[in-house]
Amino acid sequence: MNIQTKSPVRREAMRIAGRKVRTDEAIDVLNPYTGQVVGTVPAARPEHVREAFAAARAFKPKLTRYERQRILLRTAEMLRDRKEEFARLITAESGLCWKDSLYEASRAYDVYSFAAQLTILDDGETYACDISPMGKQRKIFTTRVPLMGVISAITPFNHPLNMVSHKIAPAIATNNRVVLKPTELTPLTALALADVLYEAGLPPEMLSVVTGNPSTMGNAMITDPDADLITFTGSVRIGKYIAEKAGYRRVVLELGGNDPLIVMEDADLDKAAELAVQGATKNSGQRCTAVKRILVVHSVAEEFSRLVLAKARKLTAGDPMDPTVDIGTVIHERAAQEFERRVLDAMSRGAKLLHGNDRRGALYPPTVVDHVPYDAELVREETFGPVIPIIRCPDDIAEVVRISNSTAYGLSSGVCTNRLDYVTRFVNELDVGTVNIWEVPGYRIEMSPFGGIKDSGLGHKEGVVEAMKSFTNVRTYSLPWT
Ligand code: NAD
Repeated sequence: MNIQTKSPVRREAMRIAGRKVRTDEAIDVLNPYTGQVVGTVPAARPEHVREAFAAARAFKPKLTRYERQRILLRTAEMLRDRKEEFARLITAESGLCWKDSLYEASRAYDVYSFAAQLTILDDGETYACDISPMGKQRKIFTTRVPLMGVISAITPFNHPLNMVSHKIAPAIATNNRVVLKPTELTPLTALALADVLYEAGLPPEMLSVVTGNPSTMGNAMITDPDADLITFTGSVRIGKYIAEKAGYRRVVLELGGNDPLIVMEDADLDKAAELAVQGATKNSGQRCTAVKRILVVHSVAEEFSRLVLAKARKLTAGDPMDPTVDIGTVIHERAAQEFERRVLDAMSRGAKLLHGNDRRGALYPPTVVDHVPYDAELVREETFGPVIPIIRCPDDIAEVVRISNSTAYGLSSGVCTNRLDYVTRFVNELDVGTVNIWEVPGYRIEMSPFGGIKDSGLGHKEGVVEAMKSFTNVRTYSLPWT
């Protein structure tokens, strides 16, 4: 069955403080499965970005906590009611399968709903001052205030709705203004979301969405004089470029990952294989926290590999709009070609291909590779697609930890063991932002702290709670108090 309805090409405008703005030049948005144009967006020039920041800066948000909560809740409800409409758009512009797109739309509901619930909580703290011999009869209070300037938000293609929501919802909850630049590969979802937010009552000056070619207008997003904070989710290369370019500005970087799933000898292998296959292939393997390396100890590797292969074979890859399909395309054919090349490279170094690596355009079916050397490019670099690479490790936890920590990344991890001594060592010794025992590295709730270290980020976390903190300044004030 195919739920595709032939939609007309969406000729989109930018949203600058709510106003629809077009330019002479447009960028085509392609459906990676069909190769057809699904929409066009304007190619902004730097002056459009400037206009968006200036409009945002000129507006001083005065929404009460109650008003912010209402807007966020209405947004959540509208996204819930229009879930299928958004899923259709996500699938059309990204090639993610219908199941993945529906799931993403449901996650976005949580992001706005949690932000709504958190915005009404008073975040102030109180410090009594009569607590030392030099103390005074005073109290110090804290309150969090929005940034003086504007938030510059730059987002990737792999979750066209959710990555954007993780920037916008906490910004609204804290009375901030945002200029968003979604990726040129999947900008249509972000524009549709902006309309939902305006309809939910968001003052349009609090959100602008600009689109375009990053080589033309990217620098303007990083260096605008009214940008106080840049929140970026994307690749390490661009993240480091932004960090250098940003100068005296706060920068929140959520970068790439190369997350391991670790399987120890005591693990329930069937359960571990299920986590491995799901974790490596959901969202076409295009999650920063996808399982990108499976580290299994030698004593159970043979049996584990057999189970992984059996489960991977059951997955179907095909037309992303087909609701029964498990894996849609990756973002474009170039990406799929690169996975193919890396798998062949690993094979030239002794890896064994068990399944897949038979690309059709941007459709890259799940691919199981065993005996992958831990330093092969396939697993040393981030391979952002549905590859399931098995690395066989010595039966020695110290070696497993060493191999796990051997890449430049440090985002998240998943561990399959029931032994408490192993668990404590992994939690203490893996150089990552998250350790999930008996879960995929990507497991989280939308408000829990999330983010990595090393090349995966500077340690600032996202997730609604942490993002609300990073989008505010703490102001203290003190009063006489007897
Ligand atoms: P990307 O770095 O190519 O692009 C991300 C964004 O940066 C896009 O909007 C792009 O247009 C913009 N950009 C590119 N060049 C720019 C420039 N010179 N100036 C300003 N902006 C510029 O990343 P991608 O390919 O879209 O996304 C995939 C990457 O994102 C993967 O590495 C993935 O792991 C990572 N990611 C990380 C997280 C996380 O939370 N850590 C979440 C999702 C994705």
